[in-house]
Amino acid sequence: MARYTGPSCKLCRREGVKLFLKGDRCLSDKCAVSRRTTAPGQHGANRKKIEEYGLQLREKQKARRYYGVQEKQFKSYYVAADKKEGIAGENLLSILERRFDNVVYRMGLAFSRKEARQLVIHGHFRLNGKKANIPSILLKVGDVISLKEDSRSSEKFKTLIEAMQTKVTPKWLEVDKENATAKVIAIPQRDDVDFPFEEQLIIELYSK
Ligand code: SF4
Repeated sequence: MARYTGPSCKLCRREGVKLFLKGDRCLSDKCAVSRRTTAPGQHGANRKKIEEYGLQLREKQKARRYYGVQEKQFKSYYVAADKKEGIAGENLLSILERRFDNVVYRMGLAFSRKEARQLVIHGHFRLNGKKANIPSILLKVGDVISLKEDSRSSEKFKTLIEAMQTKVTPKWLEVDKENATAKVIAIPQRDDVDFPFEEQLIIELYSK
């Protein structure tokens, strides 16, 4: 399935929650979810109460859209999460948090996950000192992300590095804001995910 290229706000309205797909705009009163609570489309305001399967499906779509992951890849994360020891739903969120593009966003070097994905694809980062441009790489404890030297001097990154200085970063990352580097120092846990997912619903959906 092709990557969705339509309006990001429509996805939030479909899920009925802020998925924070557009950086600072999401925190402003321009946010479409703050202004309109109905789902998009002609019948958006008349949608019926959804049943169990619908709830599970919506929760999965919410997580997929929040992290910007395609269905096939998302399913593969579920398979990996289910095989691991521990609670499958928490394992799934931990895997999603460790994606390269998400880590760039969480270290504060992008205004949204979508932007982080673009920056990774365009080759602005190094992983453990080596070129890396695949957003789906899963980082592990000890991995270090750094900004390429020639990217650092661009106007784009000057703005991003300045904005990064005031951002709160998660405790599983050791972020050097001055040098724009981050080291993974722990596996992210459930309480490190700052979105109220009901991940058990996603597991129930795939377990059928
Ligand atoms: Fe979603 Fe952000 Fe658009 Fe609000 S502004 S609807 S949170 S993408």
